[in-house]
Amino acid sequence: MGQHVNSRDQLAEHLKFLTELGIDGISRDRVWRASGREARTIPSATDVDLPSIRADLGDCTRCKLHTLGRRQIVFGVGNPHAGLMFVGEAPGRDEDAQGIPFVGRAGQLLTKMIEAIGLTRDEVYIANVIKCRPPGNRNPEPDEVAACEPFLFRQVETIHPKVIVALGAFAAQTLLKTQESISRLRGRIYTYSSAQVIPTFHPAYLLRSPDRKRDAWEDLKKAKSLLDG
Ligand code: SF4
Repeated sequence: MGQHVNSRDQLAEHLKFLTELGIDGISRDRVWRASGREARTIPSATDVDLPSIRADLGDCTRCKLHTLGRRQIVFGVGNPHAGLMFVGEAPGRDEDAQGIPFVGRAGQLLTKMIEAIGLTRDEVYIANVIKCRPPGNRNPEPDEVAACEPFLFRQVETIHPKVIVALGAFAAQTLLKTQESISRLRGRIYTYSSAQVIPTFHPAYLLRSPDRKRDAWEDLKKAKSLLDG
């Protein structure tokens, strides 16, 4: 019974998100129908040792962001065995306050997007390239990316996801070692290590440019079908 209620709740969330996108009749969509229990990921035999990466990070002072008003390091959250990983840019004010990535308005949209493909935040892993909040939400600077990205790369190697959704230009450029814009990068599938990478728009951008939500939805459907494939 509880499972039925859960499924109903998920369907309601899904339809709400799709209504926001202005898409009708998508509940018949093959991706959505194929979602659910079978989308849950199977633990790999690899040792999952995120705590040791977090311990190595420590009370990090490797870049100047540690002196620029961060309240805490925002390491990452979710299933250490996730088949699907989301990588964003850096914590904002809400994330800095709570120590959890993607919990502000953009985070709430990301949560809806995850639920729209039949998953929950607990089933995926969410992290940022940069673990400390840049002041005033400015863009991360190259020295900060260089200092922090090794920890993201270790998270990816440890979690060993099948699919990575790169949210926004910084995440895509960091993983793919390119300077291309996100508009040019999205719409194609790339690889990073053993993962397939889907670049898409950052949820914060989608809040400012809702007409791009439809593209993001296409990207997420592609990610889900790669996950299931
Ligand atoms: S942003 Fe990364 S490298 Fe810089 S202080 Fe924070 S954890 Fe360390």
